Amino acid sequence: MHSGRDIALDLCEGGGGQPALLNLVKEAEAAASQSPAPAAGVNVPEPDDEGPLYVARRKIYPQRVHGTFRRIKWAVLFATLGVYYLLPFVRWDRGPNAPSQAVLVDFPNRRFYFFFIELWPQEIYYFTGLLIIAALGLFLMNAVAGRIWCGYLCPQTVWTDLFQAIERWVEGDRRLHLLRDQQPWTAERVARAALKHFLWLMVAWWTGGAWVLYFADAPTLVKDLATFEAPFIAYMWIGILTVTTYSFAGLMREQVCLYMCPWPRIQAALTDEYALNVTYRYDRGEPRGSVKRSAALREQGKPAGDCVDCYQCVYVCPTGIDIRGGPNLGCIQCGLCIDACDGVMAKIGRPARLIAYDTDLNIKRRQSGQPPVVKIVRLRTILYAAIIAAVSAIMLYSLATRQIEAISVIHDRNPMYVRLSDGEIRNGFTVRILNKSLETREFALTVEGLTDVDLKVIGDAVTTGRTVMIAVGPDQTYELRALVSTYQKLPPNASIPLTFRLTDVKSGRQATAADHFRGP
Ligand code: SF4
Ligand code: SF4
Repeated sequence: MHSGRDIALDLCEGGGGQPALLNLVKEAEAAASQSPAPAAGVNVPEPDDEGPLYVARRKIYPQRVHGTFRRIKWAVLFATLGVYYLLPFVRWDRGPNAPSQAVLVDFPNRRFYFFFIELWPQEIYYFTGLLIIAALGLFLMNAVAGRIWCGYLCPQTVWTDLFQAIERWVEGDRRLHLLRDQQPWTAERVARAALKHFLWLMVAWWTGGAWVLYFADAPTLVKDLATFEAPFIAYMWIGILTVTTYSFAGLMREQVCLYMCPWPRIQAALTDEYALNVTYRYDRGEPRGSVKRSAALREQGKPAGDCVDCYQCVYVCPTGIDIRGGPNLGCIQCGLCIDACDGVMAKIGRPARLIAYDTDLNIKRRQSGQPPVVKIVRLRTILYAAIIAAVSAIMLYSLATRQIEAISVIHDRNPMYVRLSDGEIRNGFTVRILNKSLETREFALTVEGLTDVDLKVIGDAVTTGRTVMIAVGPDQTYELRALVSTYQKLPPNASIPLTFRLTDVKSGRQATAADHFRGP
C-alpha cells in the first residue's frame, strides 16, 4: 500500500517519476524532516513544552506553493519592498527654502519631512503617538488573526521570503535542492552557491543603500556614493545593513523569529480564544491515512479523516513546522500550509480548508455538534480600534492646528536680577523664536506682567518703544538676549509672572511663553 507521502509525490508531481529518483528524494526528505510524523489520533497532541530551550538549526527547504495566501504574500512583498526602495526618490515641492524629498530625516538641520508634514525636534510627541498607534495596530491584528503581522508584513518575513525565492531560482525547488545538497562539491555546485550568495548580498547591499537615502537628498547621495564622495557614515550604515540583512534573511531566517524576536511570546499572552489562527482542523482530518485506506474505511462505514499524511503542509512551511501538531511558537501564520493542503484536497476530491484560519474553540464546537462562531467584533477589538481612532484623531487635530511660530524663554540663573545704579531692577532672559513656515516673517516681541517695564534686546533687532521687531528667516530659529527692566516698587523676594508675547506682524498670529521677574 502507498503511504501518504508516496501518494502526495504522485499527486503533486503528476505521477510517473523514476523510482530511483523517488527513493533519493524520500531519503533526503526524511533527513531534512523537522520532526517525526505525529501519531494519528482523534485529538491533536498537546504542544510539547518540555523540549530543550535551544535546538541546533536544521536546514529548511521550503517548497514552492501556489494559492490564495501565496498570492497575498507576493502582493504584500512587492508593495512593501517597492515602497521601501523607491520612496526616497519621490519628490515633494515645498518651495525654494526646503528640501524637495517627500520623506526625509534631516539630522543636520534637525527636521523630519513626510510629504506635507514637517516636524521639529520639539514635536517628538508625534512619534510617541505613532508608536502608540503602531503598538495598538499590532494588538488589533493579533486579536483578529493572530500573528498575521509576522506572516505577511514583518520585515524579517518579507526579506526572508525574497531570499528564499532567490534560493529556489538558483538551487531549484525543495526536492531538487535537497538532491543537490546531497551531492559532492562540484564546480557547478560551487558556482550555484556563489551565485546565490552574490544575489543575496546584492539585495542586502541595496537594502542598506536604500536606508541611507532616507537621511539625505537621494539623487545627490546616490551620485556621491557612486563617486566615493559620500560621508563615511553613509558607507558605514550601508555596511551594517548589508551584513544584518544578509545574516537575518539569508542565514538565520526562522531562527530570528524563534529565538530573537520577543513578539511571539508577547503575542501568546495577548491572544484569546476568538483570535483566528492557522489551524489544522483535526476534527475533520483525523484519523489520517492514505487516500486508499481512507476510501476503504469510508466504504466500510468507518471514520476516516481527510488528511492523507502527505506532508505538503510541512514541506511548504518557511519555519519547517507541522501545523498538525497544534499551536506552535514557530508558526508565523503565513497561511502557506493552507494553500498546500487546499491543493492536495482539490486533487483527492475533498473539500478545501482542512487547514484554515480558525479557532480551537470552533473545532470543539463542531465536535459537539454546535455551529462555529467567528467574533471579529468583540470588546478587545472594539477597545483597540477605539484607542487607535482616538489617538489618530488627536494627532490629526494637533497637526491641523499646528502653530507655525513658537517662543521659549529661559531666565538667567546667575544673577537672578541686577540692581542698577539708578535703582532700576533688571532681569536677563534667553529668548528663542521659531519660525516654522517657509518664508521670512517679521515678529513683534512684547512683555507683559509689569506696569512699568522696559524691554531691550542684545543683537540686531529693532526696538520701538516697548516692542522689539525681529525678522526670522524661513524654517529657522532665532535666539536673542532680552533684558527686562523696571522702576516699579517690588515686594521683598519678588517673583512676578511675566508673559513674552510674539506677534506675526503680517498675519497677527501669536505665541506666548511664561516666566517670572525676580527682585531683591
Ligand atoms: S494536512 Fe493536508 S497537506 Fe498536511 S499532510 Fe494532511 S493532507 Fe497533506
Ligand atoms: S505552519 Fe503554516 S501558517 Fe504556520 S508558518 Fe508554517 S506554513 Fe505558515
